[in-house]
Amino acid sequence: MRQNHAVYEAVEAQWEWFRFHLRELVETESPSDDKAAVDRAVNLVAGWAEELGGLAKRHRQRDFGDVLELRFGSARSTRRPILLLGHVDTVWPLSTLKSMPWREQAGRIYGPGVLDMKAGVVMALTAVQVLAEMNVRRPVTLLLNPDEEVGSPVSRLITERLAQSSDAVLVLEPAQGLACKTARKGVGDYRIEVTGVASHSGVDFERGHSAVLELARVLEKVASFTDLRLGRTVNPGVIGGGTRANVIAAHAWAEVDVRISKAADAAKVARLFHGLKCDDPACTLKVTGGLNRPPMERKPGTVALYKQARKLAVELGFTLDEAATGGGSDGNFTAALGIPTLDGLGAVGEGAHAMHEHVVVEHIVPRTALLAAMLAAID
Ligand SMILES: [Zn+2]
Repeated sequence: MRQNHAVYEAVEAQWEWFRFHLRELVETESPSDDKAAVDRAVNLVAGWAEELGGLAKRHRQRDFGDVLELRFGSARSTRRPILLLGHVDTVWPLSTLKSMPWREQAGRIYGPGVLDMKAGVVMALTAVQVLAEMNVRRPVTLLLNPDEEVGSPVSRLITERLAQSSDAVLVLEPAQGLACKTARKGVGDYRIEVTGVASHSGVDFERGHSAVLELARVLEKVASFTDLRLGRTVNPGVIGGGTRANVIAAHAWAEVDVRISKAADAAKVARLFHGLKCDDPACTLKVTGGLNRPPMERKPGTVALYKQARKLAVELGFTLDEAATGGGSDGNFTAALGIPTLDGLGAVGEGAHAMHEHVVVEHIVPRTALLAAMLAAID
């Protein structure tokens, strides 16, 4: 209890450090698809981590920004580290700052990526800094990925490898309201392509077999794969096809987003998609894709972490609830490996991926103190 009070005060004393560095990171724009931009953010954070006594290792990438692995605490410790998991990429293209600049107003801080998740990154650095000041030598690894917003294609294996040698994973994604996240749905993408037979809709109508029409029929079946009772949702979100209104379409396609609550449901969903058939025998259908993030199920290891966090939060003066979400994060990967994972330990705010993206200032110190207290407490 007393130690947690000291942690709180130490975090509070870092407020100006936090604010200054968060501003610099937000003003270093870092869209996932721009390697040079993401690398600028990576360089910035690597420099800060080294000033704080951390050891920076870069996993170089060609098509994305580098993956940044930062180690803190005693290198001689025989204890397995705790993995703090974050990302430096954002969904915002370069020059977003012109229309959405850093702005502090009425207890909120606005800016591209401030909530998702640059505040979480700076909170983590603040927490490890406070632990070092307090002489807590617990080894901590902070992994910052460059590609989370596009499904973590290059960082996934690194995340999984580091998680497997860690005691627990704390994910710095934003909170859900005020709650942390103990369950996330798994996420999949399927693509359906239908090939028909083209013909002139006036001259040769009867020779044509419309891929557009066939796709429309197939999508009715696809939509029926949704089963809310199982926590499974299937959304044909984008379609395309055809060339002109007076041509019977030879091609049509759809992109479908799938969310599942249980890992065991993945095989069933794959069977449903691959079992799709055309009604019109002259049309053919191709299905590609699959699950790219397994679900994070609410397992005992995660629940134990949550209970510990909840207790520490009470000692720090606030209530921490838990929530489930349909959105995926890199925590899905680590939880699916059976490593206790608690997500949503970053900032509190609203508008991730939206113009009004912001963090609420009053929650930053208590939540950063919670992170530090968790790092000190997990055995
Ligand atoms: Zn995020």
